[in-house]
Amino acid sequence: MLGEGILKGLAETAKNFFGSYYSTERLTTIEYPEQRIAPFESARVFPFLVYDSKNTGGSADWEAGMRCVACQICEKECPPKCIFIEKSTDKKPDALGKPQFYPAKFDIDISVCMSCQICVEVCPFEAIKMDTEFELSTTDRFGGLLLDRQQLAKSNEYYHQIHPAEADAVDAKLEAEKVKADAKARSAADAAAAKAAAIAGEGA
Ligand code: SF4
Ligand code: SF4
Repeated sequence: MLGEGILKGLAETAKNFFGSYYSTERLTTIEYPEQRIAPFESARVFPFLVYDSKNTGGSADWEAGMRCVACQICEKECPPKCIFIEKSTDKKPDALGKPQFYPAKFDIDISVCMSCQICVEVCPFEAIKMDTEFELSTTDRFGGLLLDRQQLAKSNEYYHQIHPAEADAVDAKLEAEKVKADAKARSAADAAAAKAAAIAGEGA
């Protein structure tokens, strides 16, 4: 029937409006900012960069523990081009102890970011995730909305607080990759030792 959808919508609105006088379940608004509701796990606002404290012996050194290796995939894929990265000229160990480049500069202009999450989806290193922080209004256009790598850096513990299920899955994936990399390194070391022993045996 023509207009059926509109009638259903109006009926739902009326049910919530009148029902809110009798049932708190029908109250769909709160008195913000005095009252607040915790963001849903699926909420996403702007990206942040994850750092691991385990890389730095448990200390909260955001720079040493940063997962980002400055591969610049997110910068290339970001639709409105609001990510700006400068790759380092030297390397530092990543979560697996492998020497990697790192971002000497990593800025995101959150006044341009459209919260599409594409940067998160394309990152091969689980280094960039979506934050749930939304109270970001400022009168300082450049100092306030162009975030640098230190402002973007947040710990893996913080990631667990805002997206617990997702962060658990990421930790499990990274742990499995580490186990695989350790096994590969061990088998390469064993093969090299066996080859050296064989060469030494031939020379004797
Ligand atoms: S969320 Fe989208 S627009 Fe924002 S930085 Fe990531 S890719 Fe760019
Ligand atoms: S956040 Fe991820 S995709 Fe972007 S530069 Fe760093 S490692 Fe690469």
